Amino acid sequence: MIPVIDREKCSGCGTCEEVCPPRAITLKGDKAFINKKLCEECGECAESCPEEAITIPGK
Ligand code: SF4
Ligand code: SF4
Repeated sequence: MIPVIDREKCSGCGTCEEVCPPRAITLKGDKAFINKKLCEECGECAESCPEEAITIPGK
């Protein structure tokens, strides 16, 4: 499943952007957004988010 970002929790730290292998995440302003077409559903972003703002639906 493609992860979901809770932008209320996102602090804009940029960690998810750095760890995403296909570079599917970009920060717009201070919030992270996932490009669903690029996401390979690896889950790295959810693992690395210090704010626990990224969740995988169904997990
Ligand atoms: S790692 Fe989490 S807090 Fe940091 S930019 Fe990504 S979603 Fe936001
Ligand atoms: S699940 Fe993997 S490919 Fe998809 S946005 Fe997160 S780190 Fe990037």
